[in-house]
Amino acid sequence: MRIRYLPETLINQIAAGEVIERPFAAVKELVENAIDAGSTQIHIDLRAGGKSLISVSDNGHGMDRNDLIAAIDRHATSKLSGDDLFNIAYLGFRGEALASIGAVSRLKIMTRAAQSSEGWEIRVEGGRKFEPSPSGHPAGTQIEVRDLFYATPARLKFLKTNRAELLAIKDTLQRLSMAFPNIGFTLSHEGQKVFSAPAVQALQERLSSVLGRDFIQNAMPIEAQRENFTLNGYASLPTHTRGTSGHQYLFVNGRPVRDKMLHGCVRAAYADVLPRDRHPMVALYIETLSNEVDVNVHPAKAEVRFRDPVFVRSLLISAIKHALFEHAKTSAPSNTAHILEAFRSTPLSKNTARTPYTRTPARTYGGLAESVQQAYAPQHLFDQAPSVRSEPHETPLEYPLGAARAQIHENYIIAQTEKGMVIVDQHAAHERLVYEKFKLQLAHQGIEKQGLLTPEIVSLNESESESLLNFAEQLAQCGLEIEAFGNGAIAVQAIPAILSGKADIQKLIRDLADEITEHNHSQILEEHINAIVSRMACHGSVRSGRRMNAEEMNALLRQMEETPLSGQCNHGRPTSIELSLLDIEKLFGRR
Ligand code: ADP
Ligand code: MG
Repeated sequence: MRIRYLPETLINQIAAGEVIERPFAAVKELVENAIDAGSTQIHIDLRAGGKSLISVSDNGHGMDRNDLIAAIDRHATSKLSGDDLFNIAYLGFRGEALASIGAVSRLKIMTRAAQSSEGWEIRVEGGRKFEPSPSGHPAGTQIEVRDLFYATPARLKFLKTNRAELLAIKDTLQRLSMAFPNIGFTLSHEGQKVFSAPAVQALQERLSSVLGRDFIQNAMPIEAQRENFTLNGYASLPTHTRGTSGHQYLFVNGRPVRDKMLHGCVRAAYADVLPRDRHPMVALYIETLSNEVDVNVHPAKAEVRFRDPVFVRSLLISAIKHALFEHAKTSAPSNTAHILEAFRSTPLSKNTARTPYTRTPARTYGGLAESVQQAYAPQHLFDQAPSVRSEPHETPLEYPLGAARAQIHENYIIAQTEKGMVIVDQHAAHERLVYEKFKLQLAHQGIEKQGLLTPEIVSLNESESESLLNFAEQLAQCGLEIEAFGNGAIAVQAIPAILSGKADIQKLIRDLADEITEHNHSQILEEHINAIVSRMACHGSVRSGRRMNAEEMNALLRQMEETPLSGQCNHGRPTSIELSLLDIEKLFGRR
């Protein structure tokens, strides 16, 4: 056996495999360097998704000739002052990015130190270093990476399409830009601007330009401080969600990190207010002492390890839950805003034909969702008299949800508040109330059961009934007693008392079987029980279509006010929307 030392270029190429997996990783390293250099403006230009050119220019402190020569060497860094890997003040510290990039591409660095009158440039091609030469570069640095991986053709094969590489680069840059709102960023591809974020003072403004104005308008501020940790940021209201968890961002000590823990925490915090297939948007910033977190877990520094992950998890979950509690009683402001917009933005003539009412007012209400539109259309208010008129003085208006005045379309309660009006979706609201009641019973004495005089037999297929029977114990905890009845059938012996007389048992059992089969992979018992209870709540709530009298409606409103999270049903839809008198006056052009 003969052991030999690898040549430097090969070492750098091996390192490049870890540090620079794809063009986005090169962009990340170069932009991090520009940020570390104290830049306030960073421009990135790409060609072919970064495969043929990545150019990053900055207005940072630049480098003099000696620094430039050292910069392209491996393990040469200006950023680690002592020898303490835990005391890291910069994004970079490993001193291997430029050496790695230079080993696998044609690298050119042009730079001028801020205090110096002469600029320099240097080139590295496939690991071969050239002498520096003078350059007329302005203060700051521009780094060009051409033909990434040309020196390691095997790697080229792993690259995706230009478009996919561009998207990954954009995502990387957006994450970095969310961590540094006071730096301006632009990204161009083949000469076209694909992302730009001007330098701003407030985080809020940066998040608006990256995640959309909607996000901030529908987000709750998150703030918490515990021991050495400070948590800040925003999380979207349960009524403002996405189909994937791709818009959940975490920053630790100013560094964007990818941490699966975050998605788990967000899921746990929103478990009660969102269906499983919806995901909130969050941007959360953790600041802590550098010895609480290890950023040197991964060559690309994309992951971190907390000294006490359980503590961090609980901090995140409780801060989000707390915000949900504070904010969720009132529904999303955008609901009203959307409605107002819908009222306003519709051209006058568009929907008038639908309304046979001849004296259509000059302003019409088209453009809203059909049901709301119809609810407001004048003829409905006349030929279908509101089912109830309550005495104006019976219920004080000071209640947050006001005094019920009418029920329309057998599902919407119209209530008058001190400052305007509220429309309540009675089914959604009741569903939440039943759900919360279930949870309360579950937490205390267990859900109250009611035995059935004759068991209800539900026929399912063998596998459905089997998976349902596997959960018999949990279902019993939730007040539902089932037994095998042979041939795939199930006998229901008892149901939760809250559901008595309300639920269609056949349908409930089938829904539960679907629910359990679909989520069988989930190992978390609590999630299962929540899902069961949520499903049962849906079956036990007042269906739309049931008429209610004033007393019943007011009772529902009062219960909502006292119930946690009553601003959303358990599928995350709002249970009520509010129109202020001011809004109403605006709609009528009085303001
Ligand atoms: P690291 O960032 O871990 O120190 P790099 O290989 O990325 O390692 O960079 C090596 C060194 O080159 C840095 O420590 C820094 O001194 C210098 N450098 C790199 N990019 C820039 C830049 N855009 N402006 C000024 N100095 C830079
Ligand atoms: Mg670096």
